[in-house]
Amino acid sequence: MSTATLPTISNCTVAACSYNHADACSAAAVTIGTKPEAACATFIPLSVKGGLDRVTSFVGACTKADCSHNSHLECTAESIRIGADKADCLTYSAR
Ligand code: SF4
Repeated sequence: MSTATLPTISNCTVAACSYNHADACSAAAVTIGTKPEAACATFIPLSVKGGLDRVTSFVGACTKADCSHNSHLECTAESIRIGADKADCLTYSAR
């Protein structure tokens, strides 16, 4: 899998995250899979905003091996959505 084919984050509604800008993620890439939830491990609620100027982020890695989109600890979905109180991956689908 090349970086050109990594899943994009189509939407993230976690406004409290420093990387969130108008319901979009501006981190270069995120890691999903803090157990037990499919939580975004990149979530950080600092008092400063960060990230890149662009708002196209990618899923760099995901440790939710029990998700139907997961293959060898990488996400194979075309894109994912992130939301909910704990910055969960809403595209998670149990096998
Ligand atoms: S869709 Fe599944 S494999 Fe992809 S990031 Fe979400 S939990 Fe991980």
